Amino acid sequence: GQFVKAAEAKTDFYSQSLHYGYSVFEGIRSYRTAAGDTKIFRATDHFERLKNSAAAINMPYQWTTTELVEATYEVLRLNNLQDAYIRPVVYAPANMSFAPNKESHIFIAVWEMAPFLGEKLLRVMTSSFQRPNPGAYKIHAKATGHYVNSVIASQEAKAKGYDEALLLDMHGYVAEGPGAYLFFEKEGNLYTPPPVNILPGITRATVFELCRHFEIPVEEKLFTIEELKTADAVFYCGTAAEVIGWESLDDHPFNKNWNDSLGAIIQKAYKNLVIDKPIEEPSLQH
Ligand code: PMP
Repeated sequence: GQFVKAAEAKTDFYSQSLHYGYSVFEGIRSYRTAAGDTKIFRATDHFERLKNSAAAINMPYQWTTTELVEATYEVLRLNNLQDAYIRPVVYAPANMSFAPNKESHIFIAVWEMAPFLGEKLLRVMTSSFQRPNPGAYKIHAKATGHYVNSVIASQEAKAKGYDEALLLDMHGYVAEGPGAYLFFEKEGNLYTPPPVNILPGITRATVFELCRHFEIPVEEKLFTIEELKTADAVFYCGTAAEVIGWESLDDHPFNKNWNDSLGAIIQKAYKNLVIDKPIEEPSLQH
């Protein structure tokens, strides 16, 4: 219930979250709209996902979405930020056992952040790490401990000179990036993995809505790296990454010029949507 400077905030050295990766979080963005207001994009969806993540791993959760959204607007205002990245974290009190807690704590931090994967087409590498097995984790929860997988996969790709990793699921099908969803274009259709081994997605849902708007056919299916390499174009998307096209996968380039791809239409529409600007109608040839 307090607004404190991050540098002056304190947390408990014995928090169960710090020791066991037992906490849940969100990644949210706010934008300065075309009308000049501050708007948190899909704020309710993000805070509802935070609540669901806490429930999935049995963390007490005593806040309403409304009060958290209001508090976030206040944190933005106090920091004089409109275009910001917002990070709520629900964490555990001191507890050196694995036993459940009677309460949780929350903080909401905000800062300025450019698109997470940059704005240039990405050179992506198939990771040697798989996404976590859904039989071992509550994969639909955005829990901090799950992100060790994302960190090591992303670091591996960058150490090898690529921009980002692509992770497969435990059966060898394409799953997602360390912090973004994947869509690919093939012969006028978009394809994306089904929500089985991936986070239940907010940007993913937005892309589906934009596809409906533009009457772009989009289908969920399982596919392999070999099939992905036959795609005309590929993109990653997510709250932090927004929509960003790929140049290549494992040095295999994609044929279609990004600016002529369906992904580029979605990218442009997404940029307008988040700032409440009317979506321009592209001339589509399908
Ligand atoms: N996949 C993973 C593993 C992520 O961490 C994120 C970022 N939250 C995404 C996809 C994109 O998520 P969203 O657009 O739903 O915030």
